[in-house]
This record gives sequence, C-alpha cells and structure tokens, in this order.
Amino acid sequence: MLSDIDIAKKVGLKPIKDIGRSLGLEEEDLELYGKYKAKISYQALDKLQDRPEGKLILVSAITPTPAGEGKTTVSIGLSQALNKIGEKAMVAIREPSLGPVFGIKGGAAGGGYSQVLPMEEINLHFTGDFHAVTAANNTLAALIDNHIHAGNDLQIDPRRVTWKRVLDVNDRALRHVVIGLGGRTQGIPREDGFDITPASEIMAILCLSKDLAELKERIGNITIGFTYDGKPVLEKELGYEGAIAALLKDALKPNLVQTTENTPALVHGGPFANIAQGANSIIATKAALRMADYVVTEAGFGFDLGAEKFFDIVCPNGPMCTSAVVLVATVRALKHHGGAKLSDLNAPNVEALKKGLPNLGKHLENIKKFGMESVVAINRFATDTEEELEIVESYARKHGFDASIVDFWSKGGEGGLELAEEVKRLVDDKRCQMHSLYDWKDSIEDKIKTVATEIYGAKAIDYTSTAKKDLKKINQYGYHELPVCIAKTQKSLSDNPKLLGRPENFLVTVREILIASGAGFVIPITGDIMRMPGLPKAPAAKKITVDDKGDIENLF
Ligand code: ADP
Ligand code: MG
Repeated sequence: MLSDIDIAKKVGLKPIKDIGRSLGLEEEDLELYGKYKAKISYQALDKLQDRPEGKLILVSAITPTPAGEGKTTVSIGLSQALNKIGEKAMVAIREPSLGPVFGIKGGAAGGGYSQVLPMEEINLHFTGDFHAVTAANNTLAALIDNHIHAGNDLQIDPRRVTWKRVLDVNDRALRHVVIGLGGRTQGIPREDGFDITPASEIMAILCLSKDLAELKERIGNITIGFTYDGKPVLEKELGYEGAIAALLKDALKPNLVQTTENTPALVHGGPFANIAQGANSIIATKAALRMADYVVTEAGFGFDLGAEKFFDIVCPNGPMCTSAVVLVATVRALKHHGGAKLSDLNAPNVEALKKGLPNLGKHLENIKKFGMESVVAINRFATDTEEELEIVESYARKHGFDASIVDFWSKGGEGGLELAEEVKRLVDDKRCQMHSLYDWKDSIEDKIKTVATEIYGAKAIDYTSTAKKDLKKINQYGYHELPVCIAKTQKSLSDNPKLLGRPENFLVTVREILIASGAGFVIPITGDIMRMPGLPKAPAAKKITVDDKGDIENLF
C-alpha cells in the first residue's frame, strides 16, 4: 500500500470550479485559493438559504488509541460510498491543526483512498484560517495588555486576566510564561500562558457563528478577565470586536475541496473535542445540508467527548438535527482496552479483544441516550483477523445495533457500500429524533453530573476549592444557563487516561471551570487535561520534508 501522500499525488483532481458547479455554485460564488481550493462567498451562502436541507449523519468512535481509529477516513469514505450508490452526498469536517501534524497524532485529512485533497496543503497552511484565528486571539491579548499599560480605566486585575495567548504549535515550554518584563515602557509584568489555537475561544466562536454579525456579538461577549473587585470584564467594554471580526472575515467562509474520488468536501474550523466543542463550523455544515441530500460530519475523539458536545452544544446552536450516528470501532483499539500494549496491536489476540468489548458496549448505550438511529462501522486494518472482526460484529448485533465491516482506507468508497445502504435505510423517510442529554436551564453542577454519570459512567463528581469558587462566580454573574463543554482526556471514558475499557466506580475531579461567554458555554476542566499539548520524544516532524521542487514528502 502506498503512503497517503503518494496516493494523493496520483489522484486526478478536478478544478474546484467544476466541483462547485456540481453543487449548483457558479464561479462568482467561489473565492479561489489556487486551482483546487475555494472559499464560498457570503452571497452564495445567502442564496443557499432557499434550498431544502439534506440529512445529517454524525461519525463518532469508541475510546481511541493515540493514532485515531479512523473517523475522518470513514467520514470521507462514507460520503464517497453514498455517491457510488447514486446519492448526492458530501462531507463536512474540521481543518487539521499543525500541533498534531508535527507531533504524534498525524494529519487530519483522512487516509489511504479516503482523503480530502490537496492533503499536504490542507494539513499545512490551507487557506490560512488557523493563522487568522491565532492573529485574532493574540491581537485581543495585546489590546488587553495595552489597556492595562495605558492607565487601566476598566481596573482589570493583571493577576486575573483569563484571556490567554495561542499558537498552533505543540509547545509545552509556553504553557506558563511571564510577560511584560524589562521596565516601565515594556508593559505591566504578569503571569500568562499559551494554549494551542484549536483551544482558543475564537476558534469555538468561529465554528458556532452563522454570520459576521453573530461573530462580532460573540466576540463582544468574551469574558477577558476580572477587575480588582472581582467583576467579570467583557470584551465589548474594551470595544475591539469590530477589529477582531475584521481579522476573521475570510476565515468565517467555508472552504470547498474534494476527496480522492472527487466528492465535494467542506473543511472548515478546527476546535479539539477534548478541550472545546470538537466539530467543524456550523456555517459549513449548514451550507453542506443545502447542497447535498446526505452530509457526513465528524465529531472529535470518542463518543463521550465530541458526540456529546455535538448533541448538547453544537446542534442546539445551529439549530441542526442529526439523523444518525455511525460509530467507528476497531479491533486494534478494543484489544488495547482489553489490556494489549500499543506496540502489540498488530498481533491477533482474541482474549484481549473480548475483554475490551465493554468499551464499545458503553458507547452504544450512550448513543441511545440521544435518541439516535445508529450503525457500527468496523474499520478494518490489514492486521485484523476474520475471527476478530466477526467477534466485534456479533457483539454489536447482540446489543441491537447493525454493524458493517468497512475498508474505506484501502478501497475508497467501494470499501463501504453496505454501510452506505444501511445509513440510507436508517435515515430515509424518517423524522429526525435527536434530543439533548440535559436541559441548559439545569444548574451547572447538575449538567456536569448528568454528563459524567450518564456518559462517562462516573460514580460521583469531586470539585476542588478552585472549582467551587468558579461555580460561585458563574452563578453570581448569570452564566449558569450555559451548556457545559467538559475538558477531559480522550484516552479513557473517565478523567484518568490510565483507566481503559469500561471504567466503573470512579470519581471525576473538576479542577476549575472557565467561562467562555462568547462561545456560550462554560468549560469544566477535569483531571490533568492540558490546553497546550507537548511534543512526543519522536515527533512526526522527524520524517516530514520538502524536495527541491517544493513537493512535500512523508506527510503520512
Ligand atoms: P480519527 O479521525 O478517528 O482520528 P483518522 O481517520 O484520522 O482517525 O485515522 C487515523 C490514522 O489511521 C490515519 O493516519 C489513517 O490514515 C489511518 N487509518 C485509518 N483507517 C485505516 C485502516 N483501515 N487501515 C490502515 N490505516 C488506517
Ligand atoms: Mg479525525
């Protein structure tokens, strides 16, 4: 099997204008970024409003191993398979972050014969959206520090500025920094820190706003810190939302590209699911729903993270309704949950696999809590044995779920025609039944408890004294009716990355609760989750290179 980039280089890409035309978009509706990438103009987005909406299908997964279990690959592959069986389908996914690309996780443009292209551009700078988010975030940070330096009319306490700087790099050395050193003219010294760009509230806002007016309003509502007497300070008190939105005017437009089989794809926005809402922009998903009969989208990490946030935060914000869930499971991850080491996942191990199945079982239980139609997609790896695949399939069926073995990775859309038929059967002629897990009006503690006990399987919740103080502030300033975007490790259903399989009888510890009043949620931080990842000992960057002609090599 060729590498992803070698497969990508062999695909005959269609000019993006032709892909646009297949969706009913004229040349004037597109803003071209070279031959194969385009942004969809605001005018074109307006025109789409008159069209009927297609059905939304969400791809999620069991608790993943560090490499990922193939959600993006399955999302892209399924959109291709739906086209192969004669339907009009497209895929809407997030943009990759440079942190994982050069770190451990790798790219996020799919894999094998189910990729979005041009993958090297999508994985690197693409249309510059991440850079725009970084610039917008850091411009606001500079404006806040400038306000404090220039007299501090708002009486912002430099020790309680909550707006951090961001960078789209895995850089652990920047988690805690001191800024403003050097004397009178260099600003006011204070402790600060960097998060990764996909954790920025600006990224969350970009992915939740339906137009520029909403973007500006949400930026204005960001809580940037607290005054000396403890009152929250909103961005609009500084009054820079116009300038920050100006930096994002192009980033808010969805990016149109194509897959390895020339299926139209929107790749737009990129919040992580362990620390933010984990889905591509609402603007892109809604546009896709107006352009295709079936739209496949992905929510990051396991069902407990991305999918829960999709149903409780993203869909109500749309508003959008999801018709079905495709839950990706792999033999490899299940063996890991059953005790097999990450380095041994290529070897057959029926015993470990059987021990790991309850992880799948818990995610299946969780799907039902949102009223979803669902099918399990067993993503086949070359090292899986027929016996192992059969064990997973019959486990899913025994629990009342349809299951289909897919191989989108080595066969493209052809590798999952049965799954495409099954998805069609699940959603056609049916009213959308999706519902949220909790009522936004519930108290913050109740919302956290509902997610942690029902979805993670926790016994109880523990709050640190910092978290208790945060709760008080949230209630005092009227943010208690916001949904909870829980930051939690992706490696376990619990908040402890070491508890694999289906953990039980565990406590979830809420360390602090951040207010993201612009995005419109609060972020309870559980366990040791970091909003700025580090690099592994052997980063992917070791292999990636560019040849003398400018061609990227070894990007997976
Ligand atoms: P996720 O979106 O769940 O994180 P991805 O679709 O990005 O997962 O896949 C993770 C990695 O695994 C990618 O490098 C992808 O190419 C690879 N991959 C996915 N499915 C398969 C498969 N069936 N066989 C081999 N490699 C695969
Ligand atoms: Mg993915």
